[in-house]
Formats: sequence, structure tokens, C-alpha cells
Amino acid sequence: MLNSRYVEMQNHENVIRRVFMYGKKRAAEIGFDNIFDYSLGNPSVAAPESFHKALAEILAAQDDLTVHGYSPSLGIGSVRQAVAASLNRRFGMNYEEKHIFMTSGAAGAVAHALRAVLEEPGDEIVTFAPYFPEYQPYVEGAGGKLSVTPACTDDFQIHFEAFEKLLNPRVKGVLVNTPNNPAGVVYSVATLARLADILTEKQREYGHSIYLISDEPYRELVFEGVQIPYTASFYANTFTCYSFSKSMSIPGERIGYVAVHPDSDDAEVAAAVFGQISREIGHNCPPSLMQLAVARCLEDTSDLSVYEKNKEILFKELPALGYGCVKPQGTFYMFPRSLEPDDTSFCERAKKYELLLVPGSAFGCPGHFRISYCIPTEKVIRSLPAFRRLAEEYLG
Ligand code: PLP
Repeated sequence: MLNSRYVEMQNHENVIRRVFMYGKKRAAEIGFDNIFDYSLGNPSVAAPESFHKALAEILAAQDDLTVHGYSPSLGIGSVRQAVAASLNRRFGMNYEEKHIFMTSGAAGAVAHALRAVLEEPGDEIVTFAPYFPEYQPYVEGAGGKLSVTPACTDDFQIHFEAFEKLLNPRVKGVLVNTPNNPAGVVYSVATLARLADILTEKQREYGHSIYLISDEPYRELVFEGVQIPYTASFYANTFTCYSFSKSMSIPGERIGYVAVHPDSDDAEVAAAVFGQISREIGHNCPPSLMQLAVARCLEDTSDLSVYEKNKEILFKELPALGYGCVKPQGTFYMFPRSLEPDDTSFCERAKKYELLLVPGSAFGCPGHFRISYCIPTEKVIRSLPAFRRLAEEYLG
């Protein structure tokens, strides 16, 4: 008999994957060109040249056995130093090697941060709708309970009144994601400052730390003119979880990090504690080759311009067709309102036009749907008549 919790989890499958798998099946029937698969957040552009060059150089050198060896469990020292120096330069922080912990992507980073802050059964993590659906298994797997603050659907910033009602002494962490999957919005300075004030006040009231776990795999995917505030600069008890999956288009390489704020309550021990968590979950030693390669081109990104081009087209055309939408400021997602309150039934209907969309209820925000527009621009343009015909079914 296998662990019943995991057996049961199969009944709560990942909705995004389900839509994606439907797309694969449908593509086999009518051809990939004939479906508009807006389901998955899989980057659609090449990795930066500098990343490939770094890999080639490292492999050609053949003088360093660490390349294919086990990484130290907290990450390779020179890589951790390089990450710290880059964050300090870009965001005016003062990280040192000891504050950086290398991980397998943002998923690994968030999973370690959650396990570090959750102590007792019943401890809580608060997040904000709309949210990445995998937060549920990450939090529950770490023994916690996920509380979700309802969305502020006018602008997808934080609904502070609702948030404050969820706070109580069991809350050990708050999980934010900016730029946001699925809404595409960036939390403003005012939002982050108010969040920091509330958490500072509640830490005092409850007499324990409340960690802000800032999930930032889309940090580099912001559109022209949008300034992204660095979350950790607002609040000392912050674990910044980053990934190279989206900025360098290398999700399959599984590489990211947690940066522990140098002024946080546990700054001296947090990375070492993460190392102990890795031992327990068997997720230690992220790939050495990938650590060494990203360290050589830390501040480079893929050519991300196609995402902005796709956003421009979709954000111009869809609202004109009747799909109300908050303006995306980054990522490769947007989150319009569905044309009927039942977003699942809306997304089912969209399949008639070969449009593969993900219902908002998967992100804790019914009445919306997610478009993941990391697809070629010519396909975005070809999909517009399908969106029009779908809208005509509802709006005439
Ligand atoms: N967090 C968010 C908000 C995401 O959208 C994703 C992936 O889509 C992840 C975490 C996991 O990313 P990674 O590939 O870096 O593990």
C-alpha cells in the first residue's frame, strides 16, 4: 500500500497540464499548426548565446572535474559569490556567499523556504489570488496550510483588508509572486511597502518571525517602462526565490537559488538549514554544470521581445472583443475575464475554436482565464478570429 496522501493527490491533477495534454492529443488529430495552445508557461525563445558559449567553454576546458561532480550541498562557492555580487550591484543589497543557496529552479527554492519556516502541524502560509496552483502541494507537502487572500480584481494588487483578516499567530510565512503568474502584474512600491508595514507590525504582536517568501521567476520579464521593485528591499525577513527557467529559457536545466536577506532574523543559519532540508527530501546538489554556466552570464536574458509583442497584440484586440483585462506589465501571461461566470465551462467552449485556455479557478480566481502567450506571434495573430467567434457566441 502506498502513501494514501499521494495516492489521493492524483484526484487533484494539475489543470494546466490537463489542458496541455488535451492540446497534444488534439494536435495529433488535426495538426499542431491548427491549435492555439495557450496553456503552458514553457518559454518559446532560444536560450541566450552567452549561456551556450559558457557551456561550450566549460566543457572544452576539460580541466575541472567539478563540472560533472557533486556540487557542495549549498551550491558551488564561486557561483554563490557571483550571485550575491550581482544582486548587490543590481538592487543595492549586501548579500554574501553565505546568504545564497542554489536550488533546482524556483520550485526547489520555494519548497525549501516553506519547509524552513513551517514548524508545527497547522502552521499557515498566506498567499494572494490569483496564485500559481502548485503552491498548494508545496505548502501541504511541507506540512502547512495554505490560506488564500481573495483577489483584488480591479488591478490584481493586494486586497489588504481581506489579507489582514487571514493573519493570526499560526501564520509563519507569506508567499508572494511578482511579476505575477497568471495576472502579469507587478506589485507596486505602495503595495510592497504596505505589506512590509503590516508584517512588521504582526511580527511584533505575535512575537515571532513572519517570513516573506518572494517567488520571482519572472523578475526579468517586465515590459518596457515598467520598473520592478526588489521585494526584499522592503522587508528584512525575506527569502527571495529565483529561477533561470524563464529569463534564460532553460526550465529543463532546473537551476535557481534562494537569497536570504542579510538582515533577516536567521540570516546566519538559513542557507545551512536549507542544506539540511535538501538531505531530508533528497533534492540536494543542483547540477554543477548549470551552476557554473549561469554564473558566467548571470545578468543576461534570452531575447524576450516576442512576449511584449504578443502582449501588445492581445491586449489591444481582446478588450475590443469584450474580454475585459487588467494590463499585463510582465511575464508571458494575461488574465482576462471569462464571458460567463463559469470559467471552466467557458474554457471548454473555447476548445470548439481550438483555443486552449486555462480556467481562472485553477488560480483561485474564478470568472477569469489565463492566456500563456509564449507562442509565435504569427500564431497569436491567427488565433484572433477564434477569440472573435467565441466572443460572438456570448455577446452576439
Ligand atoms: N513559481 C511560479 C509562479 C511559476 O510560474 C513557476 C513555473 O511556471 C515556478 C514557480 C516553477 O519554476 P521553476 O521552473 O523555476 O521551478
